[in-house]
Amino acid sequence: MATTSVLLESLPRTSAETKQVKFGKCDGFMQALRERVDAYFVETGQAKRDHWRMYVKTVVILSWITASYIGLIFFAVAWWQALLLSMSLGLAMAAVGFNIQHDGGHGAYSRFPIVNNMMAFTLDILGGSSFIWKRTHNVVHHSYTNVTGVDGDIDLGFMGRLSPHQERYGFHRFQHFYLWFLYGFITFKWQFRDDYLGLIAGKVGNTRIFRPKGWNAVALVVGKLIFITLAFIIPFSLHAWYNVLLCFFAASFVQGVVLSVVFQLAHVVEHADFPMPEEESLRIENAWAVHQVETTVDFAQTSRLVNWYTGGLNFQIEHHLFPQICHIHYPALAKIVEDTSREFGVSYNAHPTAGSAIASHYRWLRQMGRADVVTDADAAI
Ligand SMILES: [Zn+2]
Repeated sequence: MATTSVLLESLPRTSAETKQVKFGKCDGFMQALRERVDAYFVETGQAKRDHWRMYVKTVVILSWITASYIGLIFFAVAWWQALLLSMSLGLAMAAVGFNIQHDGGHGAYSRFPIVNNMMAFTLDILGGSSFIWKRTHNVVHHSYTNVTGVDGDIDLGFMGRLSPHQERYGFHRFQHFYLWFLYGFITFKWQFRDDYLGLIAGKVGNTRIFRPKGWNAVALVVGKLIFITLAFIIPFSLHAWYNVLLCFFAASFVQGVVLSVVFQLAHVVEHADFPMPEEESLRIENAWAVHQVETTVDFAQTSRLVNWYTGGLNFQIEHHLFPQICHIHYPALAKIVEDTSREFGVSYNAHPTAGSAIASHYRWLRQMGRADVVTDADAAI
């Protein structure tokens, strides 16, 4: 692949007219990776998708979320039971997102598109939109990772400064304390704001959203109706409205914190790059595959628990290079990717534990919030 490009509404340092960001020429790195990964699947005789462990995992996670929901709605009598089950529901919702919806949305779950679409639809049941996600996550975040003004996943608006190219406000000096709390509201944002505004305005952040048609439109409406029924109509018919809202808040808050933190540990840490395209040509110097490796950091590669729960998102480098391979394979692919990166002089980084990655995210937030950090963006002003 020589270049990749996307239509943009705007970039922070350019006019609002439509622009195209391109990557540098491929230097053989991605080709070598593809050949070696393909050889791994030939040697081991495994399929890239439809892995039996993924099907077992799906049953376990869907049982977990169902048991949490039924326990909360029909069996919880004391406040602490409701709180614990709400938190369990929140953790299970995040697990559905990491494992089932994410693999399905990328087409990494199965070789059958209908199975992938069914798995991706779990996001609609949780109050999001798989249609919008495929655009904002698959196309934009995965192509233009950590490119300020393009990748909406590093854009918290004025509330946080994740990239050195974003504007700094005085209160950002406290962001390494308060952002952890605000992460809890991210699911409310896409459940009640982003999808609806995105469809009305035709864009989410800088990403243009085309209005869904046919089955996509049906799935979007049906998904929203199922979510509203499960989250509000059934609980309201059995419990006091304030208890329902408290439990909904607790579950969504836990889900939001977990989803946000796992994302941030891969892209918003000290060793992740935030390159900007050259101003006139809008060309990013690195080839696409090099860009993916250098804007992403793995963590806790040896933890089976972290790997199981996060759906392999502790191996985000491998995920960004091979998003259509089931995440069950990422630990095995990591050695190939790391060795090939070293061979081609590409910076491959991994934090040894989840704790060290969290500490790195904390330090990066503190650094980005400080006034005395002079960046390229500051220098250009
Ligand atoms: Zn992804």
